[in-house]
Amino acid sequence: MNNNVHNEQPGRYSRREIFRRFLAGSMASALTVIAGRSIAEDKPRENMQIDKGESVLGVDPTPEQMQRHLLAANEVARQTMHQGHHPFAAILIAADNETVLMTQGNINTVNHAESTLARLAAEKYTAEFLWGCTLYTTVEPCAMCAGTQYWANIGRLVYGMSERQLLDFTGANSENPTMDIPSRYVFAHSQKSIKVWGPVESVLEPIAKLHQYFWNK
Ligand SMILES: [Zn+2]
Repeated sequence: MNNNVHNEQPGRYSRREIFRRFLAGSMASALTVIAGRSIAEDKPRENMQIDKGESVLGVDPTPEQMQRHLLAANEVARQTMHQGHHPFAAILIAADNETVLMTQGNINTVNHAESTLARLAAEKYTAEFLWGCTLYTTVEPCAMCAGTQYWANIGRLVYGMSERQLLDFTGANSENPTMDIPSRYVFAHSQKSIKVWGPVESVLEPIAKLHQYFWNK
């Protein structure tokens, strides 16, 4: 996944370079011990072993949990709208399907709620941890956001309204020229088995209401 990883050519280093690297490694190990952290934590995220679905994903959320977290996300979307942004929001829930780890509203045209959350989550948590988590979003992620979820290694997605349903509200709005690329399509062309639920009928009304109000005002 990272082209830089395989650029090194062992065996071509001078003795001096080998010694320099040895010293640097020893220093890093010493600092790691002092900081009380494992060396693995100091590795860049992109070098971590990315899980392709072999590890246990844990228990899937119940319909009640899906409804509850989506309604909570819609409340974040409402606050986001009142703060002057588009009414989209996402929530990250831990593997226990209850603990709220992060919430994120839409920022602007290129910083959507889901991709922003996924990016911040990837900085904060390991890929292994995120594989057990679920991304909840009021509206189906666009291709950019589904792609960022994929790279962040978040194992599940639950969305309220489909991207196609949103398109009915926004139309060809220049502020939000909605795409029509289902997230299942994005994941189907990937190397991971990310689970997807949506649209969720029981939350469509409150989510639709918010978008009807916002895009038709
Ligand atoms: Zn997006």
